[in-house]
This record gives sequence, C-alpha cells and structure tokens, in this order.
Amino acid sequence: MAKVGLEQVRKVYPEGSHVAVAGATFDIADGERIVLVGPSGCGKSTLLRMIAGLESITSGTLRIGERVVNEVAPKERDIAMVFQSYALYPHMTVAENMAFALQLRKLPRSEIEARVREAAAILELGALLERKPAQLSGGQRQRVALGRALVRQPQVFLLDEPLSNLDAKLRAGMRAEIARIHARTGTTMIYVTHDQVEAMTLGQRIVVMRDGVVQQIDTPMALYRNPANLFVATFLGSPAMNTVEGMLVIDDGPALVLADGQRVRLDGARLPAGLPRHVVAGIRPEHLAVVADGQAMLSATVDTVEPVGNEVFVNLRIGALSLVARLPPEQAPVEGGSLGLSLRAADVLFFDPASGERLAA
Ligand code: ADP
Repeated sequence: MAKVGLEQVRKVYPEGSHVAVAGATFDIADGERIVLVGPSGCGKSTLLRMIAGLESITSGTLRIGERVVNEVAPKERDIAMVFQSYALYPHMTVAENMAFALQLRKLPRSEIEARVREAAAILELGALLERKPAQLSGGQRQRVALGRALVRQPQVFLLDEPLSNLDAKLRAGMRAEIARIHARTGTTMIYVTHDQVEAMTLGQRIVVMRDGVVQQIDTPMALYRNPANLFVATFLGSPAMNTVEGMLVIDDGPALVLADGQRVRLDGARLPAGLPRHVVAGIRPEHLAVVADGQAMLSATVDTVEPVGNEVFVNLRIGALSLVARLPPEQAPVEGGSLGLSLRAADVLFFDPASGERLAA
C-alpha cells in the first residue's frame, strides 16, 4: 500500500494545444479510496493514465509512496488497473485468466494458486474457476477482471469506469463489492467515473474535475453541503440543484428579487456580504416543501410530476423560472394545478453570477 502525491501534474497532448489536465495538485492517503469525477472530456482518465504510466506527464511531479515515478515504466510502478472493457483471454479459464500476470512474473506455483484462491473467495468466484469467459455473465466477467487486479496485490488500484458496461442493478451490487474489497485489502484505490451517484457512494473523498481543472476535493457530504462553485453544486445531486438568478436585497428582511419583480423572502438565510447584489441562489430540490396556502413563500404552477417510488420529482414553474422539488409521494400534486411552497432559507447557497464562485456567508 502506498500514498500517491501529485504536484502540478499537467498534460498537454502533442497533437493539440488543448490542455487535458491543467496542473493537478493533491495527495491521496495510503489506503484511501478516492474518486475522480466530472463530465466526459474533463481529463479524469488522462489523470488516471498518467498515474498508471500509460500516458506521459507533460510537467509536474508524481509520487507513489516516496518515489518520484514520472519516468518509471507502468510495470515497475506496482499498480493494477481495471478498465471498462475488461478483455479477458477467451481461451483461458477464470483461474488461468487470474493467474496469467503472476505466471509472467514467474511467481512460484503454490503462491499463484494461493493468491487466485484468495481472490476467488473475496469475489465469490470459487465455483466458476474452471469456466471460460463466454460461459459467464457480464457481472461475473467484471469480477474476474477485478480478480486479475487483486491477485497482483499492488500498492495502488486504478479503476477506470469499471462498471459502466453493467446494468443498473448489477452496478449497485458491484459498487458495494468494490467497497468491500477495498475494506478487506486496505489498498489505496483511485476510481474514475462520470457518474455522480457512483462517486458519492464510493468515494471516501471525491475530486471534482471540469475542463482539466480540479474544482474541489472533499468528502461526498461536504461537497454536497458546501460546494465551492456552481459547477460542483449542480453536478452533484439528482435532480440537480435549482439555480435562481436575482437581486439579493435587505429591506424589512432579506429577499431575492427575481427578473419579473417577484420577491422571494429569505428570512433566516445565511447572507453574503455587500448587499444588495446580483446573485445566483442555489436551492436543492429537497429544500422546497408544500405548505398551506396562507403560509406559502412561493406560489408555483405544477408542470409535471415524476414518481420514482419513495418520492416524487415535481417540475414547477414560477413565472419564467423552472424549479424541481422532491416531495413525499403522498404530497404529489396534480399536474397543471397551483402549489404553495416554503423554502428552507437557511439552506440556500449564493453564488457570484459571473464567476460561479460561492459567496461566503
Ligand atoms: P475523461 O476521461 O474525463 O472523459 P479524457 O481524460 O479522456 O477525459 O480527455 C481529456 C481531454 O483530452 C479531452 O478533451 C480529450 O479529447 C483529450 N484527449 C484524450 N486523449 C487524447 C489523445 N490521445 N490525444 C489528444 N487528445 C486527447
């Protein structure tokens, strides 16, 4: 096991002036499970591939343990990588697939057998060791791919969207399995995904990236509650945070004045300095609640209602604004009707409309 350190690690692909990773600086603790997340093209795979040694580093310093590995070949880095396309050898059995890398390394046969047995036990592949990949389900194949990485007992596991070929139910199961493997082996794990749910559930810490730039690094709940900017705020959470632009003023109390002149009272809000000022207010869908007519802070028209079982997502219109609320199913409103809402003002976040940066309370 080892920590991993990045210092201004940068990647510019030679065939373009495009900066794929613009100087990433952070440390991954020994034994930590960290997730790199961001939309397609944000540079997360490039960053992972630089750690793996599959991609050269344009500038900066990369350490695994205490050793600078910028110029160290992948196989000398003591890492194991699992990809989305897991390419098992079709003519080999499950056991042979898992043993292959160890045979190349000329480990003693008894050691190889012991490691394959142990990995098979962790992954519940014991009964399938003599099967060929064609005789396995997608989930089982992905488990064999994980097994191939496990038997190598690396210092660091690197996983690049390993579950995106699986259906939703299997994905949830494998997610739990990966967390379990991590807990059992204690090996440092760096996991890349574009899926914010996967990032939230799997990351002890999450690195959020956009356009090659690290936006914020923190625990899942800290990112959710205290996003540094609008990008992080709207990327994490589903349905996404509502964003409402307006002028934040104080007269007899704090209020947000919308473009159409409507005033939304925000008593109890944690206000930024320098009011009045133009802001984007961020309101999580769960911070809107249905109230009786007399107490409504907002009056909305119900566009559509999407039931998801344990709750309903309600798409609302307030003048020209569109908002989403998540409500308990028993409060599901009628489409086309009007709805009185309150809003938990203390939970509203404020952002600078130009930079997107969070405005400190
Ligand atoms: P992600 O994994 O977040 O989807 P990537 O790391 O694959 O993003 O890509 C980051 C950026 O670098 C993208 O703009 C992509 O087009 C570019 N890129 C990736 N690989 C290459 C390459 N081999 N040559 C040139 N540009 C590349």
